[in-house]
Amino acid sequence: MGRKAIPEKIKKKIYQEAGMACSMCGESDVTTFEIHHIQPYSDNNEHEEENLILLCSNCHAKVTAGEITENEVLRLKISLMKGNNSAPQQKSQSNNVLNFNSGVNNGVVANKVEIKTQKKFIKISAPEGTIASSANHRNYIKRLIDRYHEFKTADVGKVKMKYTIIYGAIKKEFGAKWDMIPISRFERLVVFMHRRIDNTILGKTNKARNIKRYSTFEEYLQKYGS
Ligand SMILES: [Zn+2]
Repeated sequence: MGRKAIPEKIKKKIYQEAGMACSMCGESDVTTFEIHHIQPYSDNNEHEEENLILLCSNCHAKVTAGEITENEVLRLKISLMKGNNSAPQQKSQSNNVLNFNSGVNNGVVANKVEIKTQKKFIKISAPEGTIASSANHRNYIKRLIDRYHEFKTADVGKVKMKYTIIYGAIKKEFGAKWDMIPISRFERLVVFMHRRIDNTILGKTNKARNIKRYSTFEEYLQKYGS
């Protein structure tokens, strides 16, 4: 799973393009910037300038979590490439930057066209064999993550709740974004998530009282499986 480092020249360009600030929230007082691959690196194992964007770790986690959609990131990237490096402070602003030629399909088609003029066709699809490529597997893990957040929020309260932590923990343990983990490791990820939920205070309390904390994948499939 050796991953090439991003060439310094490209890194520098990405930093410059973003004006040394997070492309999403505009924050420049950041300990660690992260260069995000808009299309997963594993798609073609390349670091292409037009596929990279500078983010703070906070925003990066939101992107990983799907709280910020790939479309939003793409739009932002396109606006950056057009020389607008003032990061939108509100989401609505980013929508004004570009006029997609079609309102249909969330502008996905238009995005492709824009990117294509730069270099090549970038497809929006999950790499085969990853959790993201199977709706059932993906949605079940997403549910566990939501459940974990629900339990953890009950422990620490809304104000102190950090939604990014679990994504970082998964990435650390499995070496990939949660939905980019190979399906072959799905069972292990499920065990990991169950444990995380069980280790919250509410999880422990419920476990002691024999209250169910989550459905098994089998139960989930029976109820919601497609
Ligand atoms: Zn940010």
